[in-house]
Amino acid sequence: LQKNMGWNFDNSYARLPKSLFTRMNPTPVRSPKLVIFNSSLAASLGLNGECLQSEEGVEILGGNKLPEGSEPIAQAYAGHQFGYFTMLGDGRAILLGEQITPEGERFDIQLKGSGRTPYSRNGDGRAALGPMLREYIISEAMHALGIPTTRSLAVVTTGEPVYREKVLQGAILTRVAKSHIRVGTFQYVRVWRTLDELRKLADYAIDRHYPEVNGENPSTRYVAFLKEVVKSQAALIAKWQLVGFIHGVMNTDNMAISGETIDYGPCAFMDRYDPATVFSSIDHYGRYAYQNQPYIGAWNLARFAETLLPLLAEDEKIAVTIAQDVVSKFHDFYNEYWLSGMRAKLGLFNQEEEDEKLIKDLLSLMEKHQADFTNTFLALTFQKLEGSPVFCTEEFREWLKRWQSRLLKQPEPIDLAYERMRANNPALIPRNHRVEEVLKLAVGQGEFRKMEQFLNALSKPYAHSHDQVDYSLPPPPSNERYVTYCGT
Ligand code: AMP
Ligand code: MG
Ligand code: MG
Repeated sequence: LQKNMGWNFDNSYARLPKSLFTRMNPTPVRSPKLVIFNSSLAASLGLNGECLQSEEGVEILGGNKLPEGSEPIAQAYAGHQFGYFTMLGDGRAILLGEQITPEGERFDIQLKGSGRTPYSRNGDGRAALGPMLREYIISEAMHALGIPTTRSLAVVTTGEPVYREKVLQGAILTRVAKSHIRVGTFQYVRVWRTLDELRKLADYAIDRHYPEVNGENPSTRYVAFLKEVVKSQAALIAKWQLVGFIHGVMNTDNMAISGETIDYGPCAFMDRYDPATVFSSIDHYGRYAYQNQPYIGAWNLARFAETLLPLLAEDEKIAVTIAQDVVSKFHDFYNEYWLSGMRAKLGLFNQEEEDEKLIKDLLSLMEKHQADFTNTFLALTFQKLEGSPVFCTEEFREWLKRWQSRLLKQPEPIDLAYERMRANNPALIPRNHRVEEVLKLAVGQGEFRKMEQFLNALSKPYAHSHDQVDYSLPPPPSNERYVTYCGT
């Protein structure tokens, strides 16, 4: 059966210096049972979904059996967690290997929740069903929104309990990523390993994610690499801001060199527009609040640049100057991506001096009148100015006039502007109350139909079809703050 599953591994990470990982297998589980499977992702990976959902396939997804050609490893990394540096590593994940797709693309296949590793510290190496399903839902929604992200191939329950504050059902998520190289991977090598290993890791990351850098002059290739990583993070975080996504735990170990969103723990989408929004139960000072995400991005990239110093220039002072220069460009890149994304949300094609103020004035009005972020842009898109008190205000009417005259000033006809808005303003985000609702049914009652319907709707956020309307309603008014948790 394995022969027909479509595995096509080439495990380049396992050929890197041994200090970067520990070879080890997932810890077997009592009775793996498949609860959700991503057929379209499987197909795009060149995997046979039917075989993978068979008994033997589920043994693989549960870590009881290895797929042909895999060379399982736990990866070593470090990281700044809420500003404090520490050794980390895959404490509850095993990288099975890199699947080469029929198109020749390379993807990590990782089991998350697969047992203890040398990097587990005090953890049990396991994960609970609720959080793994939550990661599945939100990562797949992010993908459909057009935001670079790790993806979710499957969730299996293990048949074993995990002990948190309560006894929960154990589960394993199969995570698919361009790679799992993190800022923290570089930090680990820079702090505890050799310069030779640092160069090997950097060369590897360049080959895998930024091969265009190979065309650079050898003396500037690592500067170019740093710049590409800075740019891709600026683009990523701008995309988060444009849909109201709050990552929640932007530690340097949770920032991927590939520019993908990684580690869906305490993340959540904002309903009401409030730049100070924080959902994570442990983020007491709002370090990772919505409005701080670009600044934290730049801070993390400064930590990344520090790791590359010996590669940037022979003279340390010069290296520092170069690093500062490149990292300081983050905010220019970010502002450019953010502004062009916001222009698209407002149906603007060309650039005018007044745009930034126009956008920021709208956001201030939304904040002042507690308007729903997603639905305000939808209301503008469909010219149905209802559902929020902001639309009844005199200041909004004035803003509307400014926006409309701005739309008329551009050469493109108004129809095209509204088309652009439909393509850039999602009707659907995974709203917290909806996520909770489907998780409660799935985890509490083993009822997955609602979750599958929800996933199906989330896969077409820009379709604007009538059967999706329910999912785009904001939550009913509540005095309780929505709170998220990491590491369960
Ligand atoms: P995170 O906050 O998800 O980025 O995780 C930080 C670190 O804690 C990573 O090294 C994880 O592998 C590790 N970790 C999280 N949960 C567990 C667990 N249950 N057992 C072992 N390690 C864990
Ligand atoms: Mg993490
Ligand atoms: Mg996590």
